[in-house]
Amino acid sequence: MRIDIISIFPQFFDCLDVSLMGKARDSGILQTHIWDLRDQSEDVHRTVDRAPAGGGAGMVMKPDIWGKAIDQVIDESGANKTVLAIPTPSGIPLAQARVRELAENTDHLVIACGRYEGIDQRVSQYYQQLPGVEVLPFSLGDYVLNGGEVAAVALVEATCRLLEGFVGNPQSLLEESYELSGLLEYPAYTKPQSWRGLEIPPVLLSGNHEKIKAWRREQSLILTATRRPDLIEKINPDVLNKTDREILAAHGFLPAPFKRKVRFRLARVGEEATCSALASRLFPQACPPYLPPDAIERFIAENLSEQVFKNYLKDPGIQIVLAEIDAYETAEAQNKLPQWQPVGYTLIKAGSPGYLPPEENLVKATGENCAYLSKCYVEPQWYGSGLSGAMLEVSHFTLQKRYPHIVKIGLGTNLGNRRARKFYRRHGYRKCGQRIFMVADIENQDLVAVRDFTTCQIPSWAKNVAQ
Ligand code: SAM
Repeated sequence: MRIDIISIFPQFFDCLDVSLMGKARDSGILQTHIWDLRDQSEDVHRTVDRAPAGGGAGMVMKPDIWGKAIDQVIDESGANKTVLAIPTPSGIPLAQARVRELAENTDHLVIACGRYEGIDQRVSQYYQQLPGVEVLPFSLGDYVLNGGEVAAVALVEATCRLLEGFVGNPQSLLEESYELSGLLEYPAYTKPQSWRGLEIPPVLLSGNHEKIKAWRREQSLILTATRRPDLIEKINPDVLNKTDREILAAHGFLPAPFKRKVRFRLARVGEEATCSALASRLFPQACPPYLPPDAIERFIAENLSEQVFKNYLKDPGIQIVLAEIDAYETAEAQNKLPQWQPVGYTLIKAGSPGYLPPEENLVKATGENCAYLSKCYVEPQWYGSGLSGAMLEVSHFTLQKRYPHIVKIGLGTNLGNRRARKFYRRHGYRKCGQRIFMVADIENQDLVAVRDFTTCQIPSWAKNVAQ
């Protein structure tokens, strides 16, 4: 690739001689030519700027001087196609995808470094309509520099490291931030193992490559969700698996095709109407098809009324976690106050130390200090978004924090509900028996399953996210 840089401070680019950039030049992968714009000026003062047309502060760089400088380098290169990059704060933000495209498809790059108030607009206008030239006005970020030189160096370095033969292992480049996954890269560590009281995360020293890979993926997702939520909008949904979606949901995002923000919080005293309405709405959606509507109605009236939830909310041994979705899609939500709407909940009975779950078979299977996951419901439209799994793990984490005596959690789920059984299995619940569950006077066969927190720990991504 040939790069011509035009500037009134050519000495600025001495930095391109150092490190890998210098090597790339020596090896011929890259040819750089630095030009002094003032050489095109014809007056003794080597003037390149004049007062702005229409008045105002500062000076503007003259189009005739720039035209001569750019024509000269295009002619000299003899390239069929030239990209003319013009750094400007009003340009398109420079992003990895654009840089990669440049590295892969461009033989000749010219960078025109402005100073003062910038370059006369007609320079960009003229070259835009010239065959064989593509104009790329680009910005380094939402701030103003004194000149285009820093931006030019950034563009050269970002582009050149992607040229074939520039780095030893091109695979390493694909794992970086903004590349294939569209995520920020995971944090890196090296020896010493302990530094100023801070340790390398033990998983990285475990030698277990599967676990290391999973940890790095998790860190990438968390970093992206917390630092650059704007990137989540752009993730290709095909690269996300179930766990990825759960991690993102736990950190507030349901990426495409759902495109919503989500949050989890404890239900508060006084919210019995919200809880009862939600529970009553969700219960029928998860019932087996053989249950008649009047049995479902009776169950709701007896077990999910406002009065029942009023008592639950007052009971210090009961935890209700609500999942709420912002009514606005993430793209339109940016400048709006979120409108949180409840779409799912868990209800867990935990009691105080020595607690026995209110299910005979659970008591038999687990003994004391086993919480009972009495309810775990989500509106079906959010199935597959990661919301249910995140809600469950966040509920586990909150449970453990609030009730440290709890070491296990058990549940009953309809034997015929394969989706629920698979879901609980993925989340560490193991079959330990069966029970009869009554809906009004109809008997239902339930599978009883238990998760042991000592052998199946709560994932670190579920921590500190419930509000
Ligand atoms: N008057 C211009 C404006 O407000 O948009 C700012 C001109 S700036 C002082 C001078 C030159 O610095 C620009 O012509 C451009 O080459 C460069 N520059 C400043 N900020 C930049 C940024 N964020 N990205 C790329 N180039 C920048």
